[in-house]
Amino acid sequence: MQDLTHYLDGAHFDGTSGRFSDVYNPATGEVQAKCPLASTDEVSKAVEIAARAQPAWAATNPQRRARVMMKFVTLLNRDMDKLAETLSREHGKTIPDAKGDVQRGLEVVEYCIGAPELLKGDYTDSAGPGIDMYSMKQPLGVSAGITPFNFPAMIPMWMFAPAIACGNAFILKPSERDPSVPIMLAELMEEAGLPKGILQVVNGDKEAVDALLEHPVVQSIGFVGSTPIAEYIYGKGCSHGKRVQCFGGAKNHMIVMPDADMDQAADALIGAGYGAAGERCMAVSVAVPVGDETADRLIEKLVPRIEKLKVGPYTAGDDVDYGPVVTAAAKENILGLIQSGVDQGAELVVDGRDFSLQGYEDGFFVGPHLFDKVTPDMDIYQKEIFGPVLSTVRAGSYEEAVQLAMDHEMGNGTAIFTRDGDAARDFANRINVGMVGVNVPIPVPLAYHTFGGWKKSVFGDLNQHGPDAFKFYTRTKTVTSRWPSGIKDGGEFNFKAMD
Ligand code: NAD
Repeated sequence: MQDLTHYLDGAHFDGTSGRFSDVYNPATGEVQAKCPLASTDEVSKAVEIAARAQPAWAATNPQRRARVMMKFVTLLNRDMDKLAETLSREHGKTIPDAKGDVQRGLEVVEYCIGAPELLKGDYTDSAGPGIDMYSMKQPLGVSAGITPFNFPAMIPMWMFAPAIACGNAFILKPSERDPSVPIMLAELMEEAGLPKGILQVVNGDKEAVDALLEHPVVQSIGFVGSTPIAEYIYGKGCSHGKRVQCFGGAKNHMIVMPDADMDQAADALIGAGYGAAGERCMAVSVAVPVGDETADRLIEKLVPRIEKLKVGPYTAGDDVDYGPVVTAAAKENILGLIQSGVDQGAELVVDGRDFSLQGYEDGFFVGPHLFDKVTPDMDIYQKEIFGPVLSTVRAGSYEEAVQLAMDHEMGNGTAIFTRDGDAARDFANRINVGMVGVNVPIPVPLAYHTFGGWKKSVFGDLNQHGPDAFKFYTRTKTVTSRWPSGIKDGGEFNFKAMD
């Protein structure tokens, strides 16, 4: 059994609260580590360290800050295998998925290498007689981020890389369910040249989060996780005068038009619905075929593909499609929702409830499930299941399909599969969802665009990464300056005029 730590001021710190949470190996169900849960005092200590270290970092020129990011990218690539293995062991996802988790974070770090360009201000020469005006983007000071279990490498990097590139100190409160990789990332940042105290990791639960939300020195809070917690953190953070952005849950619809390439649509639904055991905020959890004939053709294509899915531990090789879910509680919740779907009258076309894996009977594995004839009043439609369960809602027309997605309270991602450019264009323009795919099931924008949903999937206005991150982690100061002119008409300098 491993005892995990916090990471403060460039060193591992055991924690003194006496409170711990269990970190499981989801494939075996065994507790493999104890994660310390920080007290309010421990959070205050981290904030003090950050506040002391931050001014010198803010005064370090952006090019030098960018060089730390450059070196960090090299180190991430050097340690990719080790990071992926640790991540898979705590999260349960396959090694290729874990590498993808690191890679999509790394791409945001690469974007942040552009900090010198991205932080350039504006200048107006001669805004009035002898008057110049310029705006600069300055760091906020101490920023904090609270991250979910499902991307323990990517989402921390989406937050701390831009925050630090902008000259802030950053305190990360990762998920207590898979806390090891975030600490490895902090160590690598220091190996890359980051001064101590600029990136710290405080493990914890609500007590640590509340301490960050209430601390007057913390200037901004970034959050990614479930919608109820996002809403809580946004409200509380704002009421304490902080800049806050919170990204919540999802229920992503994929509309399948009658003219879609049905093999392509079915393949897309397999990857997007069951990959990472459905534990992705951009997973497709609702398929919406337009017309009964389309639905029948789609189900016919899906069933054999689902039956072929290989579910297993990450150690079983790269041909495993997905691993266990993160905890026994997550598994219980998923199975409870599946039962509700059956009870409420949905047709369970593929039933994975009796799935079990020899040698891993205590692991948190959930077999793949496919529901047909789901209706909008059912719990499996309304709630985020966050498991390997795809629901099919049959729509009578394109309009009905669009309206269905529009009426759902979540608006993270969505997709349409069609050969009809007119329908695709109309859908992309009209849909009230933040990220849209056209024949692309998981439309996660690349690092130089921004990531964010609409409706109850987000609280706050700026998106994650891309140019928005550089806005979120800086504030603008505008200087108006006037210098009495000493230049005479002929161009000769008159020092006396300056007296
Ligand atoms: P979660 O909301 O349970 O936890 C997220 C973070 O909040 C963790 O660090 C946790 O310790 C903390 N937390 C939990 N309960 C808290 C409380 N009562 N008070 C204060 N802090 C609390 O989410 P999760 O289960 O770790 O992650 C899965 C969820 O995250 C899903 O809903 C998924 O859709 C969402 N998610 C969203 C995005 C996005 O960009 N929109 C990305 C990834 C995951």
